[in-house]
Amino acid sequence: MEEEQREIRTDICSSGKEKPKSDQLEFGRIFTDHMFLMDYSNEEGWHDPRIVPYEPLNVDPSAMVFHYGQSVFEGMKAYLTPEREAQLFRPQRNFSRMNHSNNRLCIPPIDETFALKALKQLITLDKDWIPEAEGTSLYIRPFIISTEAFLGVAPSGHYKFIIILSPVGAYYKEGINPIKIAVEHDYVRTVKGGTGEAKTGGNYAASLKAQEMAEEGIAQVLWLDGVERKYIEEVGSMNVFFKIGGKVVTPALNGSILEGVTRNSVIELLKYWNVPVEERKLSMEEVIKAHQDGKLEEAFGAGTAAVISPIGELVRGEKHLEINESKTGPIAKRLYDTLTGIQYGKLEDPFDWVEKVETVKDSALKASS
Ligand SMILES: *Cc1c(COP(=O)(O)O)cnc(C)c1O
Repeated sequence: MEEEQREIRTDICSSGKEKPKSDQLEFGRIFTDHMFLMDYSNEEGWHDPRIVPYEPLNVDPSAMVFHYGQSVFEGMKAYLTPEREAQLFRPQRNFSRMNHSNNRLCIPPIDETFALKALKQLITLDKDWIPEAEGTSLYIRPFIISTEAFLGVAPSGHYKFIIILSPVGAYYKEGINPIKIAVEHDYVRTVKGGTGEAKTGGNYAASLKAQEMAEEGIAQVLWLDGVERKYIEEVGSMNVFFKIGGKVVTPALNGSILEGVTRNSVIELLKYWNVPVEERKLSMEEVIKAHQDGKLEEAFGAGTAAVISPIGELVRGEKHLEINESKTGPIAKRLYDTLTGIQYGKLEDPFDWVEKVETVKDSALKASS
């Protein structure tokens, strides 16, 4: 059967959970009433797509994911417009990135069109979970785990593709506050040839130590390249931008940097505004020199969770570089306002970035089993 035509079996939960109040929302602690699941086996390929009540999984303790970490994930959001319609921001990019990650982790590819259809159906079912308060959204976590019960080191023969949803609060409750960043010299996140370009749990496991070792008040660490420890790669789990002498510079994709949807959108917007933007190698020395010369105008991280996260101070050993008096700069502000304006359907979308979640007819959601 053509994947796109494939029915998604739906098993609606009998009584929904209580929804959190908008002002009690944190990040990723509460989940909606339903989830999407699909299985893979070498014999059947991806099969049995279904939406079922959110509940714990029944997975064998010897499942490969627990031992060798063969897994990938994505992160995106659904936003409620002023007309109370649900919409997504460039969701195709997330599913195509998932296949890019799958390829690196030897996980069989998913049908991207079908995954988006399944996601829309899940959101439609749990639409009342999309919080309404300013700056809140429904965080979407698609992920794939290897589930074959086998301790041999090899690609798994079985997988589960799952999508769960979590209502999340506004990232900036009291306005954007620039963060303090430490330049990381001891640990590296990944290296070219490693799994840095893939969104996989292992990269996050490898990143925890640096954050734990960082001094108090340090929000995130600035990752340098794993070979020469000279070139800037990312900040925490965000892509990073510096405005130097009127130009916005971001590290070029080099095999260890994760290509963010936000990163790409920032570059597109800057080009649209005729703000010079460069993707190239950027050394820590160049940033320090620019700061000395009074040319380091702004720095900020970019990612789905915070959208734009201004960097107010860079710490490197004894050196403290203050950027733009630790205030949010004009480019960071304009990018934040424009991106969130488009995401929430409050600003025009000249790039066709947003995608409506059409309401699937009620009959299509009736339990089919
Ligand atoms: C997810 C992620 C990003 C940001 O990607 P977005 O698509 O913009 O959310 C950046 N760096 C790393 C390491 C990531 O995992």
